[in-house]
Amino acid sequence: MNFENIPYKIYLDENEIPNTWYNVRADMKNKPAPLLNPGTLKPLTFEEMQPIFCDELIRQELDNDTAQIPIPEEVQNFYRMYRPSPLVHAVFLEKALDTPAHIFYKFEGNNTSGSHKLNSAIAQAYYAKAQGLKGVTTETGAGQWGTALSMACSYFGLDCKVYMVKVSYEQKPFRREVMRTYGANVTPSPSMDTAIGRKINEEFPGTTGSLGCAISEAVEAAVSTPGYRYELGSVLNQVLLHQSIIGMETKTACDKYGIKPDIIIGCAGGGSNLGGLISPFMGEKLRGEADYRIIAVEPASCPSFTRGKFVYDFADTGKVCPMAKMYTLGHGFIPSANHAGGLRYHGMSPVLSQLYADGYMEAISVEQTAVFEAATQFARVEGILPAPESSHAIRAAINEALKCKETGEEKTIIFGLTGTGYFDLKAYEAYNNGTMVDYIPTDEDLAKGFAGIPNI
Ligand SMILES: *Cc1c(COP(=O)(O)O)cnc(C)c1O
Repeated sequence: MNFENIPYKIYLDENEIPNTWYNVRADMKNKPAPLLNPGTLKPLTFEEMQPIFCDELIRQELDNDTAQIPIPEEVQNFYRMYRPSPLVHAVFLEKALDTPAHIFYKFEGNNTSGSHKLNSAIAQAYYAKAQGLKGVTTETGAGQWGTALSMACSYFGLDCKVYMVKVSYEQKPFRREVMRTYGANVTPSPSMDTAIGRKINEEFPGTTGSLGCAISEAVEAAVSTPGYRYELGSVLNQVLLHQSIIGMETKTACDKYGIKPDIIIGCAGGGSNLGGLISPFMGEKLRGEADYRIIAVEPASCPSFTRGKFVYDFADTGKVCPMAKMYTLGHGFIPSANHAGGLRYHGMSPVLSQLYADGYMEAISVEQTAVFEAATQFARVEGILPAPESSHAIRAAINEALKCKETGEEKTIIFGLTGTGYFDLKAYEAYNNGTMVDYIPTDEDLAKGFAGIPNI
C-alpha cells in the first residue's frame, strides 16, 4: 500500500466518533473471573456493590455479554471537546530510525488532564449525575486520574473529593492546584477525617501515605457520606469499556486509509489504555477474523504480567476492596522508591489478565533508563513531550522498528501515546542529570509480595 497518501495526522470527522463503546468481554470465550466478596469468597452481587459504585456502572461491570453499549449523548458531547484524538503517522521517527517499518501512534494527551483518563472520568461522572448523586470520591497518586475526574465532575456540577497520597500532595503541588481549580476538594492521605486514615496515622506517625491507603480512605468516605459513591480510574471492566473509544477511533481511522497494523503496543499499569486501544482488534482476533501481535509493556520494576501470578488477590493494600483474579505481584508489593515512570499498580485488569493467560497477547518489561532514552528521542523528532508511562510503549515500538531495519520487513506498528509529561519533569531531570538508576526486583523481593497473596 502507498503510505505517501496518508496524512501526517489522521483526524476523523466529528460524526465519525463512535457512538457506542465496544465490550470485548462479549467475544471472549473464557470470561474474566468475577470480583469476589472477601468475606464470603462468593462473586460480588449487584446489591453488595451498590453502596460503593453507581448503579449503571455496576451493570457495566457485570455485563459480559452486550457487545455494543451506547455512549450517552451528554458524554458524546463532552468527547467532542477533545475528540477525535489524532492517529499520527510518525514519519519523523521513522526517518530518524531509518526503518522500513510504518509507525503510527494514537495521541490521547490533547486535553488539560493530559491523558486518556478523561475518557472514563466523564462517563463515570455522567452516571453519578444521572443517578441524582451529590458527589464522588476517589484517590490519586501522582494526580492524572484525580485531575481527569475533577474536570469531569466540574462539567456536571458534582462534588469531587480526592484523597491524594501525601508525598505527592506535598511534592507535586501543580496537579493538586489543577484539581482545586476545577473545584475538587483535595485531601492529603492518610488524613484525620476517616477512621482508616486516623488508624494509619496513629500506627505510622509521619507516614507519607500510599495509593493503597488513599483507596481505603476514598472508599470509606464514599460509603459513609449520603449521596456519594467511589470511582476508580483503571483496572475495572467498566473502565476498559469506556477506554474502547481509543481503539474504536483507531480502527475507524485504519479502515478509512487501508492501514492494517501487524503489531499493536501499549503501556500497561492497570491495563485501561491498552485494553481500550486493542479492544476492536482483539475482537477480530477472538472471532477469528484477523490476527495481530499485541504487546503490553510494563516497567521492569513492577512486572505484574511478566513475573506475577494469575490468582485472586486484593485490589488494594488496605484490603477493603473486593478481590480480583489477575496477574499480581501481591497487594503488599510496592515498587522501589527510585522508580519514576509510573505504572506502579501491583495487579492488572482481569480482562487483560484472562486474554494474556489464554495466549491472545504478549507482554514485555523494560527498564526505566531505556524508557527515558526512548522518550527523549521521540520528543526531539516528533515534538511531543511524552508521559513516562506512555514512553514504555515508545520504547517497545522503537525496538520493533529497529528489528524491521535488520530484517528489512515493512511492518506496520501502532502504539498508544497515552499522555504528556509536563508534570513529570523531576523524572526527566534525574534522567538528564544521569542520576536515574534501573531497579529490577530480585526473586526474593517478589517472594515477599507473593507471600501476602491470600490462599483461596
Ligand atoms: C494512568 C496512566 C497510564 C496507565 O494506566 P492504564 O490504566 O494502564 O492505562 C498510562 N499513561 C498515562 C499517561 C496515565 O496517566
